[in-house]
Order: sequence, then structure tokens, then C-alpha cells
Amino acid sequence: MPGMRKVTVFLFPGAGMLVLALVAGFAELPADWQGGVRSIYPVVVLSVGLILGWRFHRSRLLLALLVLTLCDRALVHVAALDPAALDARVLFNGVAILLPINLAFLALAAERGIFSLRGVYRLIVIGLQVAAIALMHTYAETRTLGPAARALADMPTPLFDLPAMALLAFGGGLATMLFGFYQHRSATESGFFWALLITLIGVWPPASEVARTAAMSTAGLTLVLSLVEASYGMAFRDELTGLPGRRALQEALIQLTGDYTIAMVDIDHFKKFNDRFGHDVGDQVLKMVAARLERIRGGGKSFRYGGEEFTVLFRGKDAEDAAEYLDAARKEIGSMDFVIRAPGRPRKRPDQPRPARRAGRRTHITVSAGAAERNNHNSGPDDVLRAADKALYKAKETGRNRVCL
Ligand code: GH3
Ligand code: MG
Ligand code: MG
Repeated sequence: MPGMRKVTVFLFPGAGMLVLALVAGFAELPADWQGGVRSIYPVVVLSVGLILGWRFHRSRLLLALLVLTLCDRALVHVAALDPAALDARVLFNGVAILLPINLAFLALAAERGIFSLRGVYRLIVIGLQVAAIALMHTYAETRTLGPAARALADMPTPLFDLPAMALLAFGGGLATMLFGFYQHRSATESGFFWALLITLIGVWPPASEVARTAAMSTAGLTLVLSLVEASYGMAFRDELTGLPGRRALQEALIQLTGDYTIAMVDIDHFKKFNDRFGHDVGDQVLKMVAARLERIRGGGKSFRYGGEEFTVLFRGKDAEDAAEYLDAARKEIGSMDFVIRAPGRPRKRPDQPRPARRAGRRTHITVSAGAAERNNHNSGPDDVLRAADKALYKAKETGRNRVCL
């Protein structure tokens, strides 16, 4: 179920992390647990995050952890001050506004690895913000910085006691990341979305000191876990089609028991198709074929074997049953109509209809499939896969666009 997967990618691990942040911050935990949340939790998250960010060359994770740690420390400092005092309000509002802006920026920025000039610039920008807030906080009562400090401290708080600019930054950041996730459905984007939402707990004015630290650390943990999640996806999912890839197939084959059927599906004359329409159009076709195979009925699970070849596993089905579902998919793929946009074709319909030869060319593609079931002759997954390959060869030999057993 492709739609389900999207929802799962979005909810995991972020939604669980939100619950964790709420429990760690707001449940009536025993005193030494609270002590752990305040002292051990941030250090563990930061250490794990630094190691993973360094190993995976993820500067955005490292910088986000830096931002979260700085904000956490600043909020701990605020808690020791009189909340109504000018210097406390400067620091609190500074954190509430700059935290979402920086996280949103890091979420949208391109990943450039850790030892790049851009990484240094980003570090400098963060350093400048720290310096500006620290100066306004320290010299809030002086003549030179007083006006700026008061402007920051006395910002209107139209909703929930949070400065308007902070609300705007949180709202804008969350909406942007949600949209980014909708477009790319990547674990990194959903990670940043949930991390930002969780930090909102941390700057919520009524939140206790332990709730603030719990929120900042849990936001960091969310980013760390989303990196792990994204890496798992890279290893097991094919990037172009979104189907599980070869490695996932190997694992699924090892776990097969009982009766099953394995099918190999291969696009017909795909080399010619690529030569004629170009590799990019070929990629689009691969995606569409994959999308159809992902929806195959009969409990079939599709994998991208490699190139323009796909493998479909049918657990508990014999080859004859599976062939029915494969044939339905084959027919549907063969009836899909691809309109190839000729280069330079106007996007808007011209007033005067052009001669037909200028219109986009229509074409379609077909697939061949071979299926084999486990039996006394082919008892292991490797044997069955080989038999399926043989059946595919037969389908190709006998004229393509068919399913053979
Ligand atoms: P047949 O009907 O016998 O299968 O002919 P074919 O041309 O499909 O077979 P062959 O295996 O010789 O060619 C496969 C072609 O698939 C080669 C390559 O151009 C194309 N191909 C493989 N992977 C990709 C990909 O990721 N994207 C695109 N666009 N083309 C790919
Ligand atoms: Mg092939
Ligand atoms: Mg082929």
C-alpha cells in the first residue's frame, strides 16, 4: 500500500518522539528521573548525534544539534533569572524567534558535507546570532544597546504569550516542511518537521525547565533517528521508483517458507525506447511501470531487481494463480498511453491548432514476465528465481508482451 507507506514514513519516528517529549517534560516523574532528563539525556543525544553526523557527513544535523544545544543552555539560563526582567525577556524572545528560523533554514538548505566552505559560513552565521543576542542580553540596560534590547523584549505577543515573529517563524517553518515532505516524502524532511514541532514545547512560556530541556533533546533525537531512517531507506529502497530494491529482495527471499511463486518482469525493447526518447523519458516509464507493479493484486510484493527488471513475490500462491495477477498488470501496462512532449512544445495551447506532426507523440510499452513456483524440482528461492528467469526468457523468445510459466 503505497499511500500507507507515506503515512508511516511521516509518522515514524516523529509522532512517538512528540509523545516522549511530552512525557519526559510534563509527567510527574520521580526527582532522579527528572535529574536524568536534565543532565544525562542532552549529553547522550548530543554525543550520538555528533558521532552519526560526522560518520554520515551530515553538516545539517551537526548544526541543528548545535542550535538546539545553544537554545537549551540559553533557556536554562533564563530560568535562573526573574522572568519579567528585561535581560530574561531579551534572551527568551531571541531564542523563540531564532530557533525556528534556523531549523527551517537548515531543513531547506542543501547538504554539503561537513568540511565545506558553506559549512563554515553557516557556523559563522550561527555565531553572529549568538553574539548579537548575548550582547543585547548583557547590555540590555545600556544606552547603546538598550533600544534594540527593549524592541526585542517588548514584541507583541498576540497568541499563547509567544512573540509574533516566533509564531510566524514556527508556522512558516512547519508549513514549509510539511509541503517539502509532501513533495519528496523523505525521512529527513519529516524529521525536521517533528523536531520543529517538539521545540515549540520547549519555548512554550508555561513549560518548566525540565520540559524545555526534554523538548530540545528530544528534537535532537528525532533528527538523529530520521537520519538512521533515511539511511535505511537508501539501503533498502530503490531511489528512482520507490520500490524495495535488490537488498530488500535478498532478505525477503531468505525469509520465504512454504509455497510461493516468484516472477520476473522485464520491459520489452527498453533499450530502443531509451534510444528513441531519451533516458529521462525512460526513467519516467520505469516509475510508471513500478507504480503499477506496486499495486499488483493477489498479495504480490514487487521489488526493483535492477535496470528495467522487477521481481514479484507471491507468498502462498502457485504459479498459475500468480500468472493471472501478472497478466492483469501486463495488460494494464500495455494499455497505458505515454505522451512524449516534443522539445520546444508550447506549454499553453496555441490559438491556432498546429499541424498534427507538431503534437506530442503517443507511444506505449509492453512487459514480459516469467513465473515459477516452489516445488520438488525447485526447492530453494535461488532455484525458483532461476526458473522464473528461464520462463521470462521463454516469454521473450515467443514474442514478448506475455506471461510464461
Ligand atoms: P528485451 O525486450 O529483450 O528485454 O530488450 P531490452 O532492450 O529491454 O533489453 P536489455 O536488457 O538489452 O536492455 C535493457 C535496457 O534498459 C538497457 C538500458 O538502456 C535500460 N535501462 C536499464 N536501467 C535503466 C534506468 O534506470 N533508466 C533508464 N532510462 N533506462 C534503463
Ligand atoms: Mg533486461
Ligand atoms: Mg528488457
